[in-house]
Amino acid sequence: MNNSPTLLIHGGAWAMPDDAIEAHEAGIAKAVEAGYALLERGASAVDAVEAAVAVMEDDETFDAGRGSFLTQDGRVQLDALLMNGENLRTGGVACVERLKNPIHAARLVLDHSPHVYFVGTGAERFAMQHGMRLIDNTELIVPRERERLMAFQKAELEGATDTTFSGPLGSHDTVGAVALDCNGHIAAATSTGGTLSKAPGRVGDSSLIGCGCYADDASAAVSLTGWGEPIMKLVLGKWAVDRVAAGVSPEEAAESAIRYLYHRLGGYGGIILLDRHGRFGLAHNTPRMAWGLKTADAMQVGVTRNV
Ligand code: ASP
Repeated sequence: MNNSPTLLIHGGAWAMPDDAIEAHEAGIAKAVEAGYALLERGASAVDAVEAAVAVMEDDETFDAGRGSFLTQDGRVQLDALLMNGENLRTGGVACVERLKNPIHAARLVLDHSPHVYFVGTGAERFAMQHGMRLIDNTELIVPRERERLMAFQKAELEGATDTTFSGPLGSHDTVGAVALDCNGHIAAATSTGGTLSKAPGRVGDSSLIGCGCYADDASAAVSLTGWGEPIMKLVLGKWAVDRVAAGVSPEEAAESAIRYLYHRLGGYGGIILLDRHGRFGLAHNTPRMAWGLKTADAMQVGVTRNV
């Protein structure tokens, strides 16, 4: 098969302020270019989503890698998952504190372990044994996030309503990618610092298989962002790809997944979906979502707004 490749990525879905848009668009564009350049050279969909996500982990704009939201106790704890739709090989890590790029650790798990998922110090040890450098947690922390945590915790003490998903205080800036390669295989990746002021040890949907990320050539590849707890309870990634397997278009499956998230549990978030024919869908019920798409014919980068 000689398919025309496609890469679709997101950089979070939230009440993004006007002055954050430029940085999001720039970061998305860079990630799309990096992932698509690999696809053009014949690399696998797994290589492309890993590369695109790594670029966004390195960009402080997003809630992934350096620049992530902080936990209640002021640390960065990262989760990531990578899945290959060709053979369902999967690698995931959660609650890692000393890895610059958790998506590369997820790739090492996918490639080199009979297991699928590692957490905490075990994940860090596995990554180190396979050549990754361990860093100090402070290298992942930026001043903006110390300030954001302080403002959030102060507002909480004062009894302010939690506006994490739609209000001015909070944001959801998890990153993700889905790709179709020239051999007709699809893959998905998601990486996050989780939610602002999360309890240490909390794991969200992003790195859980079938929740914030899933890929199967027989259905579709998916990555989600948003309020992790409702997404997990609905196993929403798998819910969406199962609709595609049942014959629903990715466009309609994406819309209905977000409707289901809201109507069943009052959740907010965004989703990207791609099948092996290159058909895709994107939906969100947050005020804005950052995303980028590249195919042989077009490149689009944008921050869409819900009216
Ligand atoms: N879904 C992520 C989590 O709950 C947060 C996000 O999408 O930004 O950890």
